[in-house]
Amino acid sequence: MNKIGLNIHSGRINGDLELLKRDIHAIEDAGFDVAEIPVHGVDAVVNGRLRTGRAKQVEEILNGFALKYTVHAPDVLNLRDFQYPDIHRKVFAASIQFTAAIGAKTFIYHQGKLKCNGNDVTEEEAREIEVDTLIDLSSLAKNEGVTICVENIHSSITHLIRLVESVGKENIKICYDFAHSYINSKKLGYDFIRSIQAARPYIRHAHVNDNFGKGKPESSASYIEAMPMGIGDLHLPIGWGDIPYKDVFRAMVGYDGIYTLELQERFFENGYSMLKGVLQDLRDMLEQVEAEKGESAGQVDD
Ligand SMILES: [Zn+2]
Repeated sequence: MNKIGLNIHSGRINGDLELLKRDIHAIEDAGFDVAEIPVHGVDAVVNGRLRTGRAKQVEEILNGFALKYTVHAPDVLNLRDFQYPDIHRKVFAASIQFTAAIGAKTFIYHQGKLKCNGNDVTEEEAREIEVDTLIDLSSLAKNEGVTICVENIHSSITHLIRLVESVGKENIKICYDFAHSYINSKKLGYDFIRSIQAARPYIRHAHVNDNFGKGKPESSASYIEAMPMGIGDLHLPIGWGDIPYKDVFRAMVGYDGIYTLELQERFFENGYSMLKGVLQDLRDMLEQVEAEKGESAGQVDD
């Protein structure tokens, strides 16, 4: 059975390590296997430099629990941002160092999006620069024992597969976020399930949560208005939205990595009362898909 993780919500933690400790405790208590730590939520990097003392503090907190950890990049980290390209590289490098410092092996980064194009950089040039930069960063990651998983967010999956293939490094793979992709598949008109099958050989990490395939694959500024309308990247528990997760898990056949639930911060409220149920629903669905596989294998034997 796959390990299941839960995100530490960066905006909720907001630099408060006591709250980090309480949330990690709740994640362990609810029965999760993994917690995903945001570099930015714990104030680990300032102006592109790792605060080694802070990283040590975080590591000591995490070591008090029997969980595994992965690390999520700051959401604004963008290797196609040409306003301050240098600082993005430094933050990326410092985040890799943070990942290693807390004993994690997987660092998740959102694929870049062309921004601040005062220099007339074309989409293709920006792509090439992101590829080159990832190749450079892969050496540092390799020395630190870290795999960089590039996550789909702004574009199609074909685009991301092409990026990872162009980089061509063993330690640069894909984090497939089904929620982002579901929204983009509706917007761009690609086949959601087929995109999972195409990306499957490169997937080393996966993000799961639910939505209704409307709006943009980014969190909405006014969640309380977006939620009733079902618009946007709502980060809902599995089963609340429209994403056909059974088909998703069928398409992920053979995947033995982590599924990390990324929930909106309100699902941590009320004494963490929702976490156990949310985890159980996901486990039940994974088990059903697993059982189906057993049944169909049995039919072949008969
Ligand atoms: Zn994600």
